[in-house]
Amino acid sequence: MNISFDNTEVAFAYKSTKELKGAKFLFQTMAYDWFVKVGVRLTPFLMKTGLPVHGLIRKTIFKQFVGGESLEQTAPLAAELGKHHVQVILDYGVEGAEGEDNFDHATQEFIKVLEYASKQPNIPIISIKVTGFARFALLQKLNEAPRLRSGIHDHEAEEQEWNRVRQRMEAICKKAAEVGVGVLVDAEESWIQDPVDRLTIEMMEKFNTQKAVVYNTVQLYRHDRYAFLQLSHKIAQSKNFILGVKLVRGAYMEKERARAQEKGYPSPIQSTKDASDKDFNKAIGFCLEHIANTSVIIASHNESSNLLATEILAEKGLAFNHPNVHFSQLFGMSDNITFNLAKAGCNVSKYLPFGPIRDVIPYLMRRAQENSSISGQTGRELGLIEKELTRRKGLVA
Ligand SMILES: Cc1cc2nc3c(=O)[nH]c(=O)nc-3n(C[C@H](O)[C@H](O)[C@H](O)COP(=O)(O)OP(=O)(O)OC[C@H]3O[C@@H](n4cnc5c(N)ncnc54)[C@H](O)[C@@H]3O)c2cc1C
Repeated sequence: MNISFDNTEVAFAYKSTKELKGAKFLFQTMAYDWFVKVGVRLTPFLMKTGLPVHGLIRKTIFKQFVGGESLEQTAPLAAELGKHHVQVILDYGVEGAEGEDNFDHATQEFIKVLEYASKQPNIPIISIKVTGFARFALLQKLNEAPRLRSGIHDHEAEEQEWNRVRQRMEAICKKAAEVGVGVLVDAEESWIQDPVDRLTIEMMEKFNTQKAVVYNTVQLYRHDRYAFLQLSHKIAQSKNFILGVKLVRGAYMEKERARAQEKGYPSPIQSTKDASDKDFNKAIGFCLEHIANTSVIIASHNESSNLLATEILAEKGLAFNHPNVHFSQLFGMSDNITFNLAKAGCNVSKYLPFGPIRDVIPYLMRRAQENSSISGQTGRELGLIEKELTRRKGLVA
C-alpha cells in the first residue's frame, strides 16, 4: 500500500475551519525568529509577575499543543482522536517542580493517569519524566559519579533519596503492569541520562517479561545512542525481557551544544543533521529487525523516517498494525503524518500533554523553538494548513 502524507482532508478532518485559522495565525507568528527568541525568554518571567498573560497563552500556543489543564479536560479531544483511529499517549506535563512533597505528588498523579488511561478505549500508554519525581542535581551527581550507583555511597542521605526515587518509579511501573497500560520514560539532558537509563532498564527487566510495559527513550541526535540501542537489546536478550524503546531525534540540541562548549567537553550531539537522520533510520531498521523481542515507538515528525518504517514493515511482510510497532507525533504537529498513518491501519498516537499553564511552560517553549522558522518546521505546518483552508474554501464557493 502506498502511503501519502499529502492528504490534508484526512489530516485535518478533526479540526474546524475556525480552529485551523487559529493554528495558521499561531504558526505565522512563530515564523518570526526574533518573536520566538524574545517570547521564550520573557514568558516564564511574565508568568511569575502575575501579569494577565494566562488568557493569551491559553487561547494560542496552549490550545495548539496541550490537551487541557486537567486530566478530565483531555477527554473530549481524546474521544475525537479516537473517532479517527488515533490513539493517545497522555503526558502529565509538569516540569521543574522540585522537593520531596512535589515528587510524591507527581508519583500519585502518574498513578492516577494510569488508572484513568486503563478505562479509556484509546489510551494505551502514558509518558513520564524521571525529573518529575527525582531531584535534577541528584541525577546529575549519579551521572557524574558511577560509584554512587554501585553501592559505595558518599552520603547516606543521598542513598536514601535515590532509594525513594526507585520506589516511586517502581510504584508507577507496577501500577502500569497491573492495569495494562504502558509507561514511556522520556529522555532529557545527557548529563542526567545515565541513571535514568539504568533505572528504566532495571524496570524493564522486572516488568517486561511477557510484553513491553516500560519503554526507554533513545535520542539519536546523540552520536553514542545507536550503540546504546544495540547494547540495550543485548541486555534484553541476555536477561530475557522485551526491550521497550521510543526512538526520537531529540529536543535539547542547542542546550546540549551550549553546555558542552561552555564546559569544554566534546558535544554529545551528532555533527550534522544528516548524521542524526542516518542513525535514526538505522535505529528503525534495527528495531524492526529484532521485532520479536523489541517493542518500538517511532516518535518523529520526519516524513521520510515514517515512510521508511512502513516500507520496511511491508518488505518484511509485517502487518502495519503489528503489536510491537507504534508511531507517534506530538499533539499540534504533523497531523498529516498521524492521520494518514491511521488511515493506512498503523498503530499511531498523539502525544498529549496536560497540566496547569504555569507547569507546561517549558514544554511550550520547546515547541515554540521547534516550530520557529530556524528549524524549518513552521513552513511545512503552515503550507499544510493553508492547503486545507484553500480546499475547504473551494467546497463552499
Ligand atoms: C511522541 C514524541 C515524543 C518525544 N519524546 C522525546 C523525549 O522524550 N526526549 C527528547 O529529547 N525528544 C523527544 N521527542 C523529540 C523532539 O521533541 C523533537 O520533536 C524531534 O527531535 C524532532 O525531530 P523529528 O524526528 O520530528 O525530525 P526532523 O524535524 O527531521 O529533525 C529535527 C531534529 O533533528 C535534530 N537536528 C537538527 N539539526 C541538527 C544538526 N545540525 N545536527 C544534528 N542534529 C540535528 C534535532 O534533534 C532536531 O530536533 C519526542 C518527539 C515525539 C514526536
